[in-house]
Amino acid sequence: MSKFRFNAIKSSLRQKPISIPKNGRRSKYFAENVFNDSVMKQYLTKSAYNAIKDARSGRKIDRLTSDHIASGMKEWALSKGATHYTHWFQPLTGTTAEKHDAFFEPLKDGGAIEKFEGEQLVQQEPDASSFPSGGIRNTFEARGYTAWDPTSPAFIFGSTLCIPTVFVAYTGEALDYKTPLLRALQAVDEAAVAVCKYFDKSVKTVTASLGWEQEYFLIDKALAMSRPDIVMTGRTLIGHSAAKGQQLDDHYFGTIPNRAMSYMRDLERECMLLGIPVKTRHNEVAPNQFELAPIYDEANLAVDHNSLLMDVMDKVGERHHFKVLFHEKPFEGVNGSGKHNNWSLATDTGVNLLSPGKTPMSNLQFLTFFINTIKAVNDYEELLRAAIASASNDHRLGANEAPPAIMSVFIGAQLTKVLQELEVVTKGKLSPQEKTDLKLNVVGKIPEILLDNTDRNRTSPFAFTGNKFEFRAVGSKANCASSMTVLNTIVAKQLIEFKSEVDALVNTKDMKKDDAIFNVLREYIKLSKHILFEGNGYSDAWKKEAKKRGISNNKTTPEALKAKISKSTIQLFEDLNVMNAVESQARYEIEMEEYGLRIQIESRVLGDIARNHVVPTAVKYQNILIDNVKGLKDIFDADYKKVGEEQLKLIKEISTHIKGINSKVTSMINERKAANKLVEVEKKSLAYCYKVKPLFSEIRYHCDKLELLIDDELWPLVKYRELLFTK
Ligand code: ADP
Ligand code: MG
Repeated sequence: MSKFRFNAIKSSLRQKPISIPKNGRRSKYFAENVFNDSVMKQYLTKSAYNAIKDARSGRKIDRLTSDHIASGMKEWALSKGATHYTHWFQPLTGTTAEKHDAFFEPLKDGGAIEKFEGEQLVQQEPDASSFPSGGIRNTFEARGYTAWDPTSPAFIFGSTLCIPTVFVAYTGEALDYKTPLLRALQAVDEAAVAVCKYFDKSVKTVTASLGWEQEYFLIDKALAMSRPDIVMTGRTLIGHSAAKGQQLDDHYFGTIPNRAMSYMRDLERECMLLGIPVKTRHNEVAPNQFELAPIYDEANLAVDHNSLLMDVMDKVGERHHFKVLFHEKPFEGVNGSGKHNNWSLATDTGVNLLSPGKTPMSNLQFLTFFINTIKAVNDYEELLRAAIASASNDHRLGANEAPPAIMSVFIGAQLTKVLQELEVVTKGKLSPQEKTDLKLNVVGKIPEILLDNTDRNRTSPFAFTGNKFEFRAVGSKANCASSMTVLNTIVAKQLIEFKSEVDALVNTKDMKKDDAIFNVLREYIKLSKHILFEGNGYSDAWKKEAKKRGISNNKTTPEALKAKISKSTIQLFEDLNVMNAVESQARYEIEMEEYGLRIQIESRVLGDIARNHVVPTAVKYQNILIDNVKGLKDIFDADYKKVGEEQLKLIKEISTHIKGINSKVTSMINERKAANKLVEVEKKSLAYCYKVKPLFSEIRYHCDKLELLIDDELWPLVKYRELLFTK
């Protein structure tokens, strides 16, 4: 057997579950490494503590106070054995970034101290020119700085104190994922509070909640590292399906394999220490695929937690000889991975605005937020699709077992009926009888728990699941900030519109508040009916129907991304102070460029594997066959053609596939050359999408056929059955 493959398999078989010590009750060590509320109370003066609290509602922290906070933070970090600190941020590369500095500082007299002051806490200057900045780099000076985000608590990872920060250019433009998210959360807070006042004047703040569900594959490290495609691109570019895939449905919710279990326990311990409230773990549909989900949190913190989690997962993976694959589609023919974003809005008075209540009035509030969310998705479906676009997620969206690239909203039979009844309420003032009727029979009848919604439609990209919406089309690798920024912004925009329409009816038409609300909601239901879909989202019938309804179906990233710089998007983000035109344009350019680069890398790796690994192996095996036929000729003379019939066929077949590979790889290289000559980012990425990428499946076809023909002993790459079924 090919040495590389053989050694990898041998190493994988030697791995045993690592024993993880029992740590006692989780509640005891939860958030032990987080500078959270109770720790702050212990380490900070009262005024410093209050300053952090006030910062959450936007108040600035002065220089002297920040020195106090830094000093308390330092004392705490040193007491936990930390030696370094870092500003931890989420640049537009999609990963997290950090640069560690030691607390240690030598003194002139030969001694040394541990130093960390307000200055170091509040602001740092990483070299912004090494991070993607899109148009911002062209328009302005590239310099940027990270600034402390006091709304997300500092934490210790390893021996480093990590301070969550935003990353902005000196000109003020956001260079990261987090800044627009924070602005969007503020926008939705303000807009939602204003609407809440119709129902409860005491509401002061509304926070968006996020509960993500992270899917991933766990692959033995030696096996994964033996495949150049997994190492370089995070997915397999070739590989024939194993005889057994997921057709028996025997992995989903099955017993977790021992090695994976030990990994999960180790990971969960790390998460607990970091205050990531992980709760659920289980096998997913595909072999060696798993899921991890926390209890939901305030959206900003949940986004930080998810980014941090992906880092921690990688690091813990090392200890267990696993490579964690976050790619949305690492293996063809089995399920891909997603990251469902469960989203809701909650008031400071403890009400989940997307949860039906006990009284007709609280249900009217629920319906208001419910219908406004549907309308927001209806009006901005294309932008929502753009928010989850990436080269890797393209493999998942629109494929058979994943949500389609078409956005639609599933609400379940009960709520569909409620909307149907609301759609026919009288225009203008409602009669007392109708109002009573509505309150008793429609609004009043929404049960507190929507049982119907537990029977979900798994094919819907955006589903209402009882007390929250679940955005399922988000990619497993993605930073949730992108989808959360868009979702919260469009809902904010919608709520502002709603408020102004209701107010107009009350003020100019002299309507009662609830009459006006019913009137506006009725129109919204009519206007956004198109986005509601209860059927099978994977079916071809839906594609046709969606087209008729005028819903977009942008199957590829370059197509989808255009919505990010449409006039209406730029206006939307500007109106709500989430992003200015430069920031929107910059993100578009960065993502468009990244798309082309990812396909370029995949194309290079595929060319290498096909030509330098597969073809030489095919030739080797073909030579064995040729020797065999020559031997047959020696023995059987003229009869050899009959005796060696199958071998001769194989020799020809192998040649056909070698030819297929070589000619297609040549075409691919030529297309790449042509694409690289294009200067405009958009044109280049389009060329990679429509000219280069289509050749992947053709090249793969020949490689995978050869895998079936060639002696298993010779095959150089670890096979699907080995990658997916080694536990
Ligand atoms: P699944 O969708 O896998 O069946 P659940 O629906 O029970 O699982 O929950 C999935 C995620 O939804 C969990 O992370 C949970 O914390 C989160 N979640 C539950 N309620 C809310 C809410 N009101 N807002 C946001 N997320 C929520
Ligand atoms: Mg879910």
